[in-house]
Amino acid sequence: MKNFEGLGLNPALGKSLAHMKYTTPTPIQAQAIPLALEGHDIMGTAQTGTGKTAAFAIPLIEKLLSNPCGSALVLTPTRELGKQIMDIMHQLLGPKSTIKTAFIIGGEPMGKQFNQLRARPRLIVGTPGRINDHLERGSMMLNDTHFLVLDETDRMLDMGFSVQLERIFKYMPAQRQTLMFSATLPQNILKLSEKYLNNPKRVSVGETNVVAKNIKQDVIRIEQDKKYNELLSQLHERSGSVIVFIKTKHGADRMAQNLRRDGFTSEALHGDLRQSKRDRVMQNFRKQNFRVLIATDIAARGLDVPHIEHVINYDLPQVAEDFIHRMGRTARAGAEGSAVSFVSSQDGRKWHAIESLLNPGGVSGRKDSGRKDRDRKGENTGSANKKSGKPGKRRFRQKSPQKITAQKRAA
Ligand code: AMP
Repeated sequence: MKNFEGLGLNPALGKSLAHMKYTTPTPIQAQAIPLALEGHDIMGTAQTGTGKTAAFAIPLIEKLLSNPCGSALVLTPTRELGKQIMDIMHQLLGPKSTIKTAFIIGGEPMGKQFNQLRARPRLIVGTPGRINDHLERGSMMLNDTHFLVLDETDRMLDMGFSVQLERIFKYMPAQRQTLMFSATLPQNILKLSEKYLNNPKRVSVGETNVVAKNIKQDVIRIEQDKKYNELLSQLHERSGSVIVFIKTKHGADRMAQNLRRDGFTSEALHGDLRQSKRDRVMQNFRKQNFRVLIATDIAARGLDVPHIEHVINYDLPQVAEDFIHRMGRTARAGAEGSAVSFVSSQDGRKWHAIESLLNPGGVSGRKDSGRKDRDRKGENTGSANKKSGKPGKRRFRQKSPQKITAQKRAA
């Protein structure tokens, strides 16, 4: 499949694709779209940023256009990701579409959602908790919805949505088409797919547990109390938009404040902010009204902001798989990106889990991902999991960022 034209898509959809400047399908689209159009269930794995949203959105819209009674549901882990999906759906539907949609996410007033649902939407995009609420109240019916997409399924399970997912499936017809996408493929995902998918076709782009190859990765071994100064150095050294991942919501707010004090335009994004504030922060980040976004994992999952050039892992993620998702925030759709991870002496176990996930063979210092592991002396440690001995000033001696960069380039 070299272009979208040979698929026999509805002309309105073809026009939208041209308008969106989608001419060549990405590899996951080339694999998934023809199968989905033929009516198969799909179990898809693709690295983030590969175009997987359109891989399910294009066949979904085609089905809605070709069957005037058809309806579809898309489940997604977070509100931000839901919004991105909804945007792509609206672009594909085009400005003149009469197909009604509903966006059903937690944290937003019920009233507006009741109105959207009463209008008999043929496409619902939402998060499992709130969808489940509506089903239980009787304000949403899915007994005629024969097309289901589960996006970022691994994340939905990590967030504890498995109970809600199973309840939602019960409200849907057993005879349906289900497309399930997941960035990683742990056991619980495989089990879910065995239980709820009907003879699914496997589509996959690249390995499932790898970081995109066009990301230049660095690892800096550093103690907790030195991290903030290192962050300042990294921000001075780099140009362009940066996303910094941090463990706690409170920490995110405080860091954004500190960075503003230190001369960097910065905002925090986390789950405790009101939805309107989250939307505002994302809108301003997309418009490049500020440069540094400080985010927790849940809030930043799946964000598609093409101009993010750098990811900084100030704290390592709690769940190893999130490392891959974080990396996926940069180098979107084939662009170049770079990432740096701060690894402290307390991070041994977490870092080991990340290493094992990225490289199940157990050999560290992977060359294929372009990653360089360094301590603050700028030496290539070979293994990020190496025992570091006594932490402290002596071992983690500060070096000027310029020197580190020069050594990185020389390496
Ligand atoms: P996704 O992995 O779905 O978040 O997509 C990553 C980025 O690729 C988004 O900015 C999409 O708009 C873009 N994209 C997806 N499919 C195509 C395509 N066929 N041609 C050009 N850009 C695309």
